[in-house]
Amino acid sequence: MRTLNLGILAHVDAGKTSLTERLLYAAGVIAEIGSVDAGSTQTDTLDLERQRGITIKSAVTSFVVGQTAVNLIDTPGHPDFIAEVERVLTVLDGAVLVISAVEGVQAQTRVLMRALRRLGIPVLIFVNKIDRAGAGYQPVLDEIAAKLTPAAVAMGPARRLGTRDAVVNASGPGDEAFTTRLADVLAGNDDALLAAYLDDPATVSYQRLRASLAAQASRGLAVPVFFGSALTGAGISQLVAGLQELLPAASGRGGRPARGTVFKVERGAAGEKVAYLRVFEGTVRVRDRLRFGRGNAGRVTAISVFDRGPAAACDRLTAGQIGKLRGLADVRIGDTLGGPAAAASRSYFAPPILETVVVPDRPADKGALHLALSQLAEQDPLINLRQDDVRQELIVSLYGEVQKEVIQATLASDYGVAAGFRQTTTVCIERPVAAGAAVEVIGQPPNPFLAGVGLRVDPAAPGSGVEFALEIELGALPLAFLKAIRETVSQVLAQGLYGWQVTDCTVTLTSSDYYPRQSHAHGHFDKSMSSTAGDFRNLTPLVLMSALARAGTRVYEPVHRFLLEIPADTFGPLLPLLSRLRAVPRAPLTRGTVCTVEGDIPAARLTELRRQLPGLTRGEGLVESEFGHYQLVTGTRPTRPRSDLNPLDRKEYLLHLTRRTGLR
Ligand code: GDP
Repeated sequence: MRTLNLGILAHVDAGKTSLTERLLYAAGVIAEIGSVDAGSTQTDTLDLERQRGITIKSAVTSFVVGQTAVNLIDTPGHPDFIAEVERVLTVLDGAVLVISAVEGVQAQTRVLMRALRRLGIPVLIFVNKIDRAGAGYQPVLDEIAAKLTPAAVAMGPARRLGTRDAVVNASGPGDEAFTTRLADVLAGNDDALLAAYLDDPATVSYQRLRASLAAQASRGLAVPVFFGSALTGAGISQLVAGLQELLPAASGRGGRPARGTVFKVERGAAGEKVAYLRVFEGTVRVRDRLRFGRGNAGRVTAISVFDRGPAAACDRLTAGQIGKLRGLADVRIGDTLGGPAAAASRSYFAPPILETVVVPDRPADKGALHLALSQLAEQDPLINLRQDDVRQELIVSLYGEVQKEVIQATLASDYGVAAGFRQTTTVCIERPVAAGAAVEVIGQPPNPFLAGVGLRVDPAAPGSGVEFALEIELGALPLAFLKAIRETVSQVLAQGLYGWQVTDCTVTLTSSDYYPRQSHAHGHFDKSMSSTAGDFRNLTPLVLMSALARAGTRVYEPVHRFLLEIPADTFGPLLPLLSRLRAVPRAPLTRGTVCTVEGDIPAARLTELRRQLPGLTRGEGLVESEFGHYQLVTGTRPTRPRSDLNPLDRKEYLLHLTRRTGLR
C-alpha cells in the first residue's frame, strides 16, 4: 500500500474542516459526519477551535482509499497562524487547496498557492460550497486562472449550482472541450505530446492525455480543479479518485540512517513532549537513540502511527510515514533528524511583523507566565519570546490580533494565568549602510577581557539574512571560543543602533587572540591568566556594536501589498485617506460599477485603512493584503527601547557586567 501525506489548505471558512470530515466519512473512518457548526469534528479538537470555529493547530487523521493510505493534515486558514502552515508544508507529498465557490480566490489563497508552487508541492484545487446560493463555476475558474495558476484544468462540469441538488460529473474522453484543454495545458511541458498533437490530434489517445496529466499533476506542473460540496457530498468521489490518480505517493528508501522532520510538538496528558515526525528515509524504532536539531539526542520511548483515524501504538515508523514520538525531551518544532530534510528549513512566508508586551494580571504570576510562554514558544518558535532585562518585561512577536486573543485564552485555559497585552507595535528591521570594523586587542587597555576580537560588518543583499565569515585561519582559535563569538554575534544583532533586529549583512571575524590555559606552579587552572569563553562573550558585544556604529544603519518598515475592491464612485473620496496613510495606489481598474486598486501600504497603517474603509465605501469596500517587502523609513526613525544594557555605552555596560558577574 502506498502512503500519501496530504495537506488541506485554505482561507478561513472555505470549508477545510468540513471537507476533512466528509473525506473521513467517505472512507468509512467515521460513521457520522461531525459538524463544524455544532463543534463535533474529528479535527479542531482544541476547545478554542470549537468555540471559534477556526483551526489553530494542524491536526492529523488518516484513511485508506483503494491502495492508498492517506495521512490528512488539516492546517489553520487564518493568516495569523501561517507559521503553523509553513511547518506542515515541508512534510507534504501533495495538497488540496480549498476555495469557496461563493467567495472565490482570497488573498490568503494566493499566499498559500505561491508557497506550494515555490516548494513544488503537487496541488489539487477543490472548489467547495457549490450548493450555496451565489456559487459560481466559470467565474471561479477564470479567477483561478488569473490569480493562482494558468495550468488549471477543470475535471468536470457542475450543474444546478447554488441548490442542494448541485451535482458534478467527471469529464471523460467524449468531452471535447476537456480534452482540448488537457492538450493545451499538458503540451507545454511534454514535447512528445506537443509534436503528436500538432501532427494529428486524432492520434493522441485519451489514455495518453490522462497519463500525462497524472505525471504533470504529481510534479506540480498541472493543477486539476474539482468542484463539489463538503456539505452534500457532491463531487467528493471525484476528488477521492483524484487523490489516488493524480498525487504522488510518499517516496523514500528504507535503509538507515533515518531522516525526518518534526513538524509539530504538543504536550501529552502528563506534560511530556509529543513530537510529530515525518520520516523521509530509514526506520525509527522504539528505544532508538535519535540525534536531532542542534546536537540534541534522546531515546524514543513510544511511537504511534496514524492509522484510519487517530494514532495507534506501534513499534516503528518507516520512510514515508507520519507518527507521534514520545521520549524526546529536548525536541523542538522544525528539528530535523539525521541532517537537513528534503526541504530546507527556509522560511516561505513573511515573518511576524507585530510585537507586544505580555503582562500578568497578578504580579505574582510573572514566573508562571514566563514558563507558560516558553512552552508556547516551543510549539511556535516564531512567537520569539524575549525578556527585557531592563524593564523586566516579556515580549512576544505576533502575526495579528486573532493570534493575540488565542494566546491570551490559551494562557488562561491551559496554564491558569490571566494576562493582558500592551499596545501592539510594528516591528522594523535595520540594515547596515556601509562597511564598518572594530578591534579590541588582548592585554591592551581599555580592553578588560582576556580575549582579542576584530569584527567587520558588511552590507549584504536585501533578504539574504545574516552570514558569519572568518578571515582568521581555522584552528587559530579554540572552537569553544569561536562558538562563543558566533553565538554572541547573533544575540547582539537582535538589537541594532535603533533597537531593531539587524539583518542582511555579513559579519566577519577579522582577528582574534587568547591566552592559552595556564597554571601556577601548583597546577591549578587560573582564570586570571587563561582566556575563557566568557571573555569572548563579554567582549564581542563591545566590538560588534562599535563596528556597527561605524557602518551606520538605516531603519526599514514592513510594507504590505493591498488590493482594494470598492464601488467605482468612491475611489475619489478614498484618495485623501490613502495618501494620509502613506499608501501608494497604482492605477485603478474599473469594471462596471466596481473598481479594483492595487498598491503598497505601510503595515502599521493597515488597521486604520480597515477601520475607515466601510464608512467611505457605503460598507461595500473590501481590502486584502499580504506582506510585501521592507521599505526605508524616511523622516523620523522609529526606535525600540533596548532590552539589555547598550554595549555602545562602554562604561555602563562594563559596570553592569561587574555587578552581575563580579568581574575582576
Ligand atoms: P474552515 O474554516 O475552512 O475549516 O471551514 P469550515 O469547515 O469550518 O466551514 C466553514 C463554514 O462553511 C461552516 O459554517 C460550514 O458549515 C460551512 N460549509 C463548509 N462546507 C460547505 C459546503 O460545501 N456547503 C455549504 N453550504 N456550507 C459549507
